[in-house]
Amino acid sequence: MLGRRCAVLLSLLLLAWSAPAAAPAVAFGTIEGGGQHREHERLTRAALACANGEPDCFEPATANYLAGHDREFGAVGAPDSDEMADPAAHCDNADYLAGGYPQTRDQAAATLTNCVEHLRAQFRRGLDSAEGLLDDEGEVIPEEVTASPECNPKEREETRAKCATIEAFGRVLHGAQDFYSHSNWADQADPARPIGDDNPPGLHRPGPSPLLDLRGAAVATPPADFTTGCYVLQDRVPGVGACEQRITHAALNKDRGLIDPVTGRATEPGTPRGQVATNFADAVAGAIAESRRQWQDFRAGLTARYGEDRAARMVCALTHDDPASACQGPRRNGVAVVIVVIVGLATGAAAIWLARRRR
Ligand SMILES: [Zn+2]
Repeated sequence: MLGRRCAVLLSLLLLAWSAPAAAPAVAFGTIEGGGQHREHERLTRAALACANGEPDCFEPATANYLAGHDREFGAVGAPDSDEMADPAAHCDNADYLAGGYPQTRDQAAATLTNCVEHLRAQFRRGLDSAEGLLDDEGEVIPEEVTASPECNPKEREETRAKCATIEAFGRVLHGAQDFYSHSNWADQADPARPIGDDNPPGLHRPGPSPLLDLRGAAVATPPADFTTGCYVLQDRVPGVGACEQRITHAALNKDRGLIDPVTGRATEPGTPRGQVATNFADAVAGAIAESRRQWQDFRAGLTARYGEDRAARMVCALTHDDPASACQGPRRNGVAVVIVVIVGLATGAAAIWLARRRR
């Protein structure tokens, strides 16, 4: 969702205006309030954090890095700090409306493809990074999988494979979640107003979406009435600048509202499109289903590339807070088997010896 991004842009502007010499990076993590409710964080927690006993969920310290917490953007928030100006990271600008529109349907579809390809690149980067989690024998490498101290992607020295993998996957989640907030995939038009660039049709479909098949390579064709919103800094209705006479992010987004980080229940929609019918709740439900699908696909991608055993240990390392003790591999298991066999043989020999002595 774009909530924090708007706030970041606003604060950057204020910062640039009031203190041109200050380094903007320090302002990124301080955004709280102002209509923002940490929607990406809460969505991600509702979808993937360990709370309901689902398998392969993310344990607390690791979930903190994936979802963000307090002033930390986390992996899912990373695109709001360093990919703000890239519409592909947020699935923006794939806007189209039938009947004489500033960009053609093909142009809009190509822009959506840019978003999908951007997310596919992050998805692959995550799969690549996972290789560094294990050694040649398939054991977790303790210093590559520790979640403490917390991962910090802004630090040059941050080289842990777990941090790099989760960061890439977090960027996948960000774009996949934005898709539901920034497009009309899940929502409905306002029935009280005529269809137009300020009130485009809604497709009212559930997540996950076949358009976000990030393991595949096919170029998907969006449904005829599919649209996202055109985004410029002056985000308003009607659109201005490059977004003149176009469906804007301001008209279409369902970025803001309250999301329960455990149940995913979405209430108090904070944007005009989000307040139509059940649009905010539908976008959040779609984004949660999509986040789970992406995690499932990511696990499948690990299995396809590294084989079942190594992938299982990688998933264990990515989701557990203490993988060095929670994710034992073949070497330690091999040692355990040897010990069991030795104890068993010794017990058997002792029993035979005792039996003979009694005779
Ligand atoms: Zn975004």
